[in-house]
Amino acid sequence: MTIREHISLLPYNTFRIDVEAAVVAEYESVGELKSILRTYSGMPVLPVGEGSNLLFTRNFGGLVLRSRMQRAKAVRETAGEVWIEAEAGLRLDDLIAQLADMDIRGMENLSHIPGTVGAAAVQNVGAYGVEAKDVIEKVSVLDTLTMQTRTYTGEQCCFAYRDSVFKHGKRGTCIITSVVFRLSKGGPFRLDYGGLRQALGQDDVSRLSALDVRRAVIAVRRAKLPEVGEVGSAGSFFKNPVVTKDTFAAIKAQYSEIPFFPLEDGVKIPAAWLIEQCGMKGRTVGGAQVWEKQPLVIVNRGGASPGDIVALAQLVTDAVRDRFSITLTPEVNYI
Ligand SMILES: Cc1cc2nc3c(=O)[nH]c(=O)nc-3n(C[C@H](O)[C@H](O)[C@H](O)COP(=O)(O)OP(=O)(O)OC[C@H]3O[C@@H](n4cnc5c(N)ncnc54)[C@H](O)[C@@H]3O)c2cc1C
Repeated sequence: MTIREHISLLPYNTFRIDVEAAVVAEYESVGELKSILRTYSGMPVLPVGEGSNLLFTRNFGGLVLRSRMQRAKAVRETAGEVWIEAEAGLRLDDLIAQLADMDIRGMENLSHIPGTVGAAAVQNVGAYGVEAKDVIEKVSVLDTLTMQTRTYTGEQCCFAYRDSVFKHGKRGTCIITSVVFRLSKGGPFRLDYGGLRQALGQDDVSRLSALDVRRAVIAVRRAKLPEVGEVGSAGSFFKNPVVTKDTFAAIKAQYSEIPFFPLEDGVKIPAAWLIEQCGMKGRTVGGAQVWEKQPLVIVNRGGASPGDIVALAQLVTDAVRDRFSITLTPEVNYI
């Protein structure tokens, strides 16, 4: 394990915000995690993965915890399915790359999403019609209050759009240690979202492998999203709002070209479209900018302060509310 006090969080968040944490500890076993928690008991706790969904707004006067547990193994197998248990500190995309090489299916649409396996369960990450909840069988955690481990079934995780039980009341008291994914050996692919089919070209769908789909997903993502390591960001800054059918009908009467996804209990509207309509594409505050290629993303052009990002997010929120009477909510976790 490594424990450091009063250090910069710059390497711990993809937004490249340079604030300080009182303590940053990295652990290689649940035993080490427990020992760190006992040493710093009473301090606020923040588990982090790659910090790709965090916005540090100030110095953090607590304990930042990062897992270096990164193994994955098959724990059960049938003729058509395989259950993979992956430790929370493993990069999600490294896991998906390994699975795609073996043509194990179910997570290929989540390729190239930054971050770790543990956070994928917290966030219920999603892309191109697939969400982590579709393949998560169970999640193992350490409860920091009782120091006991326990397992949550998929149902007990209360997964919703970029949401789970781990974001409500459990933040800091529930540290995910591993996740079991239930995957398919030859199941169908989901190709009907975000231009995936076009990216796959004329390929005969019945002959596609998970690796083909993964490559197409990565190509589509690279064309519009900033690359971690090149541009500071936390991906989509806002969630796509879900409005009532009546509200949607009123907006559609005015904007017939509005894109939408019908849901059982409402209509989901792409926040990127709303933001673009408000003329916010490319808008800047200090070093923060609404990304030109995908206005759902706010980027750090270099030297952005947390205040710049918060102010720009507020400007976008106000513009969308004034024009459409819709309140955007952030997907990014403010710390
Ligand atoms: C360029 C870019 C593109 C992105 N594209 C997508 C996308 O397509 N779809 C999508 O859903 N997201 C996307 N994201 C957001 C981000 O990648 C995901 O939210 C990811 O799951 C965050 O992983 P992380 O390890 O970086 O978590 P962090 O940002 O470090 O943490 C996220 C949350 O999880 C908690 N957490 C982390 N690890 C644990 C743990 N072991 N136990 C308990 N809690 C924990 C943290 O406390 C925090 O609340 C994108 C981000 C970027 C920068």
